Amino acid sequence: MKLLIQNAYYTASNGEKIHSDILVENGVITKIEENIIETVDRKIDAAGLLVTPGFIDLHVHLREPGGEKKETIATGTLAAAKGGFTTIAAMPNTRPVPDSKEQMEWLQQRIQETGSVRVLPYASITTRQLGQELTDFAALKEAGAFAFTDDGVGVQSADMMLQAMKKAAEVNMAIVAHCEENTLIHKGSVHEGEFSKNNGLNGIPSVCESVQIARDVLLAEAASCHYHVCHISTKESVRVVRDAKRAGIQVTAEVTPHHLLLSQDDIPGLDANYKMNPPLRDASDREALIEGLLDGTIDFIATDHAPHTAEEKSEGMVAAPFGIVGLETAFPLLYTNFVLKNIITLEQLIEFLTKKPAEAFGLPYGKIEVGAPADLVLLNLTEEQDINPEEFLSKGKNTPFGGWACKGWPVMTIAEGNIVWEKGCVTA
Ligand SMILES: [Zn+2]
Repeated sequence: MKLLIQNAYYTASNGEKIHSDILVENGVITKIEENIIETVDRKIDAAGLLVTPGFIDLHVHLREPGGEKKETIATGTLAAAKGGFTTIAAMPNTRPVPDSKEQMEWLQQRIQETGSVRVLPYASITTRQLGQELTDFAALKEAGAFAFTDDGVGVQSADMMLQAMKKAAEVNMAIVAHCEENTLIHKGSVHEGEFSKNNGLNGIPSVCESVQIARDVLLAEAASCHYHVCHISTKESVRVVRDAKRAGIQVTAEVTPHHLLLSQDDIPGLDANYKMNPPLRDASDREALIEGLLDGTIDFIATDHAPHTAEEKSEGMVAAPFGIVGLETAFPLLYTNFVLKNIITLEQLIEFLTKKPAEAFGLPYGKIEVGAPADLVLLNLTEEQDINPEEFLSKGKNTPFGGWACKGWPVMTIAEGNIVWEKGCVTA
């Protein structure tokens, strides 16, 4: 497939603003020049649109195998494409768990057969994510694992975590951590704060997260390991990561759009579309997350896309599973509520979704330059449209953002030189 994107407007990796044509051949950007004249399979007029590198989301739950009622690799990667994401990393809390070479090879095969965008699969840190026994990191790396995580649960034993970090360092891979100290969960379904008190619900205190991050940054220092914190949600966690970075510890962190956009004050009632893990915290935590993102403490944004069925989410705040979808709303929500409100710049937002996650994990994606993989998104920054969960390509419609009016919608997504989503077509 040979594509010519005409009149493209974008920011180059060196920060330069460029108006030009982009030629894509065999999955790679081969020419960036004004007025390229070539015979191509398709010419795309990008006048009036912004072109950015395809977005990268390093925290996605695709649910397959085992949770196909919620999502599959096919539907999840289509949702990613619609949201402008061309690289996503898939969490291992599936059944079975990708905890062996064989299971990782099966997963890679399935991704090749059914995925629309690039999927980087995580392997688990421990067998079946039970926290009892380390997986074979070298074999899993060889089978294509992107990094190691037991996302969904915290690794409870400090010694297990230390051994994991030492082994990860040996194979030059990252430990990616969902931080939750089990003795502090207190059977909570929401944050321990005003909302939990007012509604008579058990709350998950902030220290449940921050205490484990504090432990882990010290373990990472001892093991000389790249340690990445998933979905950071509290002001204390931000402070711990900031201090750890100052101390030279190799720590990175991500934050979700929903923790940047919402706090417990925004939960309208006992609606499980506001139930996620970590929970929506205090307004002061939300402020600290924005500050942490802007000062570089938090490296990038990841959605924690966590689809569930409508039936599961209708079970109420206590019984419903944790998690909300995020792939198809991340950019419009962040663009509308942060860029258009002058809290972060457009360039910063694009970096948090492209260059920054790529840099944190040494990935060769997230840039527009000759020789780079042709991962591109064309965005319409002016047309406003309401978020309508019924239009999601994800099987999951579980979002608290239904009805929010947003600008910044993708109109075309190109992954490795293929048009994987186009407005008006389900698939191209
Ligand atoms: Zn998690």
